[in-house]
Amino acid sequence: MSELQYQNDMLKAMNQKLKGNEGMYRLVCETSCDAFLYYSFEKDEVYTLGRWSEFFNFEIRSVNDLHLLYDIMSDFYVEKVRSLVYLEKRNLEKANCEALNQNKRAWYSINAIVEYDDYGKPIHKLLTISDITKFKKQNEELAYLAYYDPLTGLYNRNYFVRLLSEFVRNAKEDDKIVDVVIVDIDDFRKVNDGMGMVVGDELVQQLGGVLKEFSSANVIVGHINSDIYCMAIYEPKNDYTMENLYQRLKSRLRRPFYLSNGYEISITVSVGVASYPEASKDAVELINCAEIVMFRGKSLGKNTIQYFDTPILDDFIHNVQMDNKLKEAVTNNHFMLKYQPQFYADSKELRGVEALIRWNDVSEDSVISPTVFIPMAEKNGTIVPIGKWVIEESIRQCSEWHRKYEKPIIMSINVSAIQYMKEDFVDHLISVIEKHDVDPRYIELEVTESVLIDGFENVAHKLTALKEYGIRISLDDFGTGFSSLSYLKKLPIDTLKIDKSFIDTVLIDSPTRVITESIIKMVKTLGFEAVAEGVEEFKQYEYLQSIGCDVIQGFYFAKPQNVEEIEKLLQ
Ligand code: C2E
Ligand code: MG
Ligand code: MG
Repeated sequence: MSELQYQNDMLKAMNQKLKGNEGMYRLVCETSCDAFLYYSFEKDEVYTLGRWSEFFNFEIRSVNDLHLLYDIMSDFYVEKVRSLVYLEKRNLEKANCEALNQNKRAWYSINAIVEYDDYGKPIHKLLTISDITKFKKQNEELAYLAYYDPLTGLYNRNYFVRLLSEFVRNAKEDDKIVDVVIVDIDDFRKVNDGMGMVVGDELVQQLGGVLKEFSSANVIVGHINSDIYCMAIYEPKNDYTMENLYQRLKSRLRRPFYLSNGYEISITVSVGVASYPEASKDAVELINCAEIVMFRGKSLGKNTIQYFDTPILDDFIHNVQMDNKLKEAVTNNHFMLKYQPQFYADSKELRGVEALIRWNDVSEDSVISPTVFIPMAEKNGTIVPIGKWVIEESIRQCSEWHRKYEKPIIMSINVSAIQYMKEDFVDHLISVIEKHDVDPRYIELEVTESVLIDGFENVAHKLTALKEYGIRISLDDFGTGFSSLSYLKKLPIDTLKIDKSFIDTVLIDSPTRVITESIIKMVKTLGFEAVAEGVEEFKQYEYLQSIGCDVIQGFYFAKPQNVEEIEKLLQ
């Protein structure tokens, strides 16, 4: 039965009573859980019925007592209830409200309904009062869960954002500052992975307790997720400035946390701060900005506090835009290959070319260097399709040149660590070589050390398989990074490329000269081929040739070139 139907039936029953049909009225009233107040305008008579005496310790005998019903309500609700009691004064047929009593122990839901005659004169009215205290309590518990994070007892993310929005609104009106702070436990994953999630949770809970102590009328503290907390300081001053809170936090963190399994854990945190109105005027954006600077702190070695400044945001926005643009470039294939020739030092004959990718940024009408976008592509995963395209296009081009020109040249291809990780890397490469019918001895893969650092065994295994198939392997940028000599022994290397940084100073710096000469000697002993990268001057070339370097690549001979320019060379 709908609420309104119920009210109407009740009103009719009351009316029946007045007409003498008491049986029906009693039945309805006694089976109800509500209290009723009935008033007949015609007869100027008031009746209280149902659970009235259980709900209230007063009786209403005439219209003069009606005020008792709103007098017992707590201040905020008095007027609301009063206007229900005199609903006919507003010419309304029905209305309802919820109200809390003065001692704040009981909640009521009150429905009022008035019936009018054809001329708009009120005939009678009924107030139906339900006790909703239990229901309200349950709601409060639910509300707690809606507002608080059960693990730490701090505000949860949603509620924190609401409160922060209020801070921001007030700050706008009062021309104040709000500091928004992100706190993140350093190396939390090690705790979670090493000791288990239960221990991780306990640590999060304990640090939550520490941060909770900072809360005050002007400081709110929330738990965003996992090991990330957020605080906001309204009008930072005196004891409640970020510097002050950070020092307090750090001094607490000098002591370890004691966990219930008997462990002691010492932690550090990374903190990022972004302020209204400087960083942003929007609550969620402020949190994001604080998070961005916190992550910058992590990348700078953790255990720091970082403050937002505009260049960071510009950088961040720029990176996000570039990221999206790069994904678009992959979809629309806005890449091209340049080819930088490599010459034998003695004969000056063309040995081969290195394929070097370029990104045609059509929106800016510019060309973006691989040193800019390859690291981005490695991060966002687009290196996989990009790398596949490079392999396909360079091998296709190589095959075309082999068919068109008498002397076959070597095609050197740069391959990124992530490409090697892919299960199908070897199969894919071989299938492309077979599709274009190229002799694998003319395909050379350039490997950098970064490829070898993680998962050396896996990569070494794949390189060996490729080498057995006939492909050449070249170690790129040798001399930068760790340049572990053990790689040279364990990897099936054919060529070693001495990095440009050596070539740059080899003529003016004697230690560099000694090292370069030893590298070349070692290369000879191991039976590899030595390639010098970044040769820009005749004198460098002359010197490198004199110490036995086999191959020269660099601007002195040629910059990376397009297909037509290479074809001129081939002719
Ligand atoms: P890298 O493999 O060491 O390539 C040599 C880089 O040195 C090229 O830069 C080349 O243009 C530049 N270079 C060559 N000779 C000279 C010289 O005499 N003077 C100067 N100043 N520079 C010279 P580029 O093309 O900008 O490529 C930079 C790096 O980007 C490459 O270094 C390589 O690590 C990466 N890269 C290029 N293409 C690809 C690709 O298709 N896939 C992957 N994974 N990486 C690529
Ligand atoms: Mg290279
Ligand atoms: Mg190189």
